[in-house]
Amino acid sequence: MAASNGGGGAPLVVFDFDKTIVDCDSDNWVVDALGATRRFDDLLQFLPWNTAIDAMMGELHAAGRTAEDVRACLRAAPLSPHVAAAVRASHARGCELRVLSDANAFFVGTVLAHHGLAAFFSGTDTNPAHIDAAGRLRIRPYHEFADPAAAGHGCTLPSCPPNMCKGKVMKRILREEEEEAAAAAGRRRRRAVVYLGDGRGDYCPSMKLGEGDYVMPRAGYPVCDLIAAAPPAAAVREWDGFEDQERVLLGIVDGEIARAAVAAAEEGEQEDGGAAAAPPAVSAVVLPPDCRAMPAALLPQAVRVPN
Ligand SMILES: [Mg+2]
Repeated sequence: MAASNGGGGAPLVVFDFDKTIVDCDSDNWVVDALGATRRFDDLLQFLPWNTAIDAMMGELHAAGRTAEDVRACLRAAPLSPHVAAAVRASHARGCELRVLSDANAFFVGTVLAHHGLAAFFSGTDTNPAHIDAAGRLRIRPYHEFADPAAAGHGCTLPSCPPNMCKGKVMKRILREEEEEAAAAAGRRRRRAVVYLGDGRGDYCPSMKLGEGDYVMPRAGYPVCDLIAAAPPAAAVREWDGFEDQERVLLGIVDGEIARAAVAAAEEGEQEDGGAAAAPPAVSAVVLPPDCRAMPAALLPQAVRVPN
């Protein structure tokens, strides 16, 4: 069901997961639901987060909790109908959707499948996870860092945890976009990329985006402070709650589609022979039905930052 990197102007939309798709931190949600909050807090005193959640899963397994128990917790994690609507609507408009998350493949996959959303995403970059032969859920770092032979991700931004630099992943995604755009005849620039996130780890990928791209930080959450201190080159469009997330995202998507339609029409006129006689045929441009959202989506907006 994943959309191809075709024309039409629909952007690539990359979602963070915790507090962006689900309205909770999925690690904390599972740990709390299984009654291990205090122990997890203890583990975090001396382990990096990604290592601590793996250790926590090991202790829960030793105490008789199964991977199915974890799955049951994840099915109960809160996910707004507005997120589901935004995913379905942006995909229907031709967007390709991806997840870029510091949770893990087991948690992300379980939640998306439970809500019938998995097929709308073309890919997920997150910490790998598997159930071992003993039935224990194992969670590994996306970028190996504990082994002295492992290079780690090499990013020096303090907002990137040791196990995952989302900025490094975003650079790879953008490189793939550039290559695909260069290979497609008639494409002058890669499609726009929209990134939605809330946490400190979402700052680095935001800074990799350029002019013509969009960052959608969750209002009042840590990524907003970082963006306010040193903004990205991409346009910043905050969202405040999930109804707003749906509205802002679809506004951007419709704006990009309308912009591409206008550009394609202008290009067609030039190819039609200099247009010495014909005036610009703006009225002939077919705009999508929701392009009334375009003006707001195209105008730069000030970043509102909580104190
Ligand atoms: Mg998050």
